[in-house]
Amino acid sequence: MSSLKINGRRIPFTVQRKEIQHIYMKIGSDLRLEIVLPQREKISVSRFLKSNLPWIEQKVEEMSKMKRLFTGNTILFKGEPLKVKGIRVRSAGGGMRNGRGRKGFRLYKNVVFVYENSKKKRDEILKNFITRQTLRHVNRDAKRWVRISGMWRSEFGKRKEKIHKIEVKEMKNWGYCTKKGDLLFNWRLICLPERLRKYVVLHELLHTKYFNHSNGFKREMAKYIGDFQKVEGLLRNYLPF
Ligand SMILES: [Zn+2]
Repeated sequence: MSSLKINGRRIPFTVQRKEIQHIYMKIGSDLRLEIVLPQREKISVSRFLKSNLPWIEQKVEEMSKMKRLFTGNTILFKGEPLKVKGIRVRSAGGGMRNGRGRKGFRLYKNVVFVYENSKKKRDEILKNFITRQTLRHVNRDAKRWVRISGMWRSEFGKRKEKIHKIEVKEMKNWGYCTKKGDLLFNWRLICLPERLRKYVVLHELLHTKYFNHSNGFKREMAKYIGDFQKVEGLLRNYLPF
C-alpha cells in the first residue's frame, strides 16, 4: 500500500477510481486515508495529494488525538486497556481445544485470552463479549438512573420491568432514542470509562422526556450530573466506531 509521511507519521492510503461525480476522501480512526476519484476526470494522484495536504494534515492531527477503542492487540474496557492474546488450539476429537481443554475465551486480570485459531473467529468472540457486557451494564445504568431520578416510574413500573426497550447494536453514534422511546446503544459502549457510559445512558433516557437538547433537557441533566459539560468534552475524545 502507498503511504504519505505526515509529521513523521506514515499514513497509508488507497486510491480508487469510480463512476462518481465528486471526489471522496476519508481518514478513519486507524489513520488510513481512503480516496475515491471520479473516473471521468483524469486527476493526477500526486497533484491531488499535494493540493489537499493541509486538509489531510489537519485530519491526521485530529484523529491521532482520539482514543482508540480497539488496536491490534488491545481493547479498551471501562476506559482501561485490556491485552488481547490469541491462543492457538489444536484439534482433538473433532472439537477445537487446547491442551487444557479450554475453549473460547477467558478474562484474567487485564488480559483477554481467546482460544481460537482464526483471526476472524477471535474477533467474533471478542465482539460478542463486548456486546454482552455493554448490554448488561447499560441495563443496570438505566435502572439506576430511574431509581435516582424517580422519573419514568410509570413506565418502568414494578410489574413490568421496563416498557422502554433497550437494545445494543452497530451504530455510528453512542446512543439513540427512538420516537417510541426505545433506547439503542452502540455495542462498544463498555469501552468507555464508566462515567462517560453512565452519561450516555442518562442522555438517551432524558430524550424519552425531552426530544431535543433544550434548556429543560440540560437543567434536568445537571441535576444528576453536575459537570455534564465536562463529561461531554471528554466523550469527544472517543470515536464511537
Ligand atoms: Zn441527544
